[in-house]
Amino acid sequence: MNAVGSAEGKMVGPPLWLLAELTYRCPLHCVFCSNPLDYARHGNELSTAEWRRVLSEGRAMGAVQLGLSGGEPLLRDDLEEIVAHAHGLGFYVNLITSGIGLTESRARALKEAGLDHIQLSFQDSTRELNDFLSSTRSFDLKAKVAGIIKGLGYPMVLNCVMHRYNLPHVGRIIAMAEAMGADFLELANTQYYGWAWLNREALMPTREDLVHAEAIVDDHRARLAGRMKILWVSPDYQDARPKACMNGWGAVFLLVAPDGAALPCHSARVLPGLDIPFVQDRSLSEIWYESSTFNLYRGSAWLSDTCRSCDQHTHDFGGCRCQAYLITGAADATDPVCPKSPDRPLVDSLIARAGGSSSIVAQPLKFVPNLARQLALVYRTDANSRERCDAEDRAHG
Ligand code: SF4
Ligand code: SF4
Repeated sequence: MNAVGSAEGKMVGPPLWLLAELTYRCPLHCVFCSNPLDYARHGNELSTAEWRRVLSEGRAMGAVQLGLSGGEPLLRDDLEEIVAHAHGLGFYVNLITSGIGLTESRARALKEAGLDHIQLSFQDSTRELNDFLSSTRSFDLKAKVAGIIKGLGYPMVLNCVMHRYNLPHVGRIIAMAEAMGADFLELANTQYYGWAWLNREALMPTREDLVHAEAIVDDHRARLAGRMKILWVSPDYQDARPKACMNGWGAVFLLVAPDGAALPCHSARVLPGLDIPFVQDRSLSEIWYESSTFNLYRGSAWLSDTCRSCDQHTHDFGGCRCQAYLITGAADATDPVCPKSPDRPLVDSLIARAGGSSSIVAQPLKFVPNLARQLALVYRTDANSRERCDAEDRAHG
């Protein structure tokens, strides 16, 4: 344990969970992708040697869980080498993937390298909606990959991001996971960051949509008890319950982005004025314990008066800083999803606006190449990201 000056003299433990975003490249173009809108600016990727050093430093600090994600981590030719290195260090290694590029021989090679776990994402249980939401023909490939994962004896973990388009299919998504022999299904209600923030009006379900879907999940959960676990990730806007984001800022989670930026969460790049540390310049230990970024929201000194006087702050740490910033413009505000926040009406109005845009759902939900630009949704594409970067640059002169 190390003492951290700006965290009220509290002892800070090591990062337990390290997430290595190996690349922002991805063959899919999901409308809810959590990658930064300006990812095109951050395209320089760490080398194999740099990733090996980062993993060694993280393990030496005490990290035990390693997630390999992106973008699509399978696009890294050195993935097997990175997995073997991480396995040799003693990490539990989890690959978080769209499945595109996971052939049987590659899955076998990754297993031999020591990969423990694969989390495979689907966008929906139907080919039409899956391919529409990712703007690629990917459903059939994913279904094939699910068979490969099962065949090689990996734990079968499926993930599906839930929103207004696919909530009506929740029972079919569970049935698909069951038919694929999944051990675990994560139904992750959309968190509004990155591309999902941009598309929030189209993706946001109504409270009624969610109540109906959750009742279906509860029925299936009871039916499948002992065979398949179903995790329903709370829709915090509608539940009005702030999440304990990352279990507290700089508490257990450390993310390294493809370009070497070290961040306390997936979205922290949106916060203005952060002096983001890079693993090329400083050791992981120095970044974790001493950088201004990782110390910024540790402890409780920074909390709003509302949160400091609330007995929940030791459980939810005042909610999410990125959400506070995106909705209120102030990163240190009480998370506006909380009913005690003076900004809660802003969240209610985001939900109310979603209810009024039903025509979007009525659009033909079918993958048609190049149709994306004509629709209300913005796909996560390199061209769209570059447009965002150019617009930002123009705005800042
Ligand atoms: S959410 Fe979709 S676009 Fe984003 S990294 Fe994952 S598969 Fe790629
Ligand atoms: S007031 Fe702050 S600590 Fe209390 S529940 Fe709301 S966000 Fe959490």
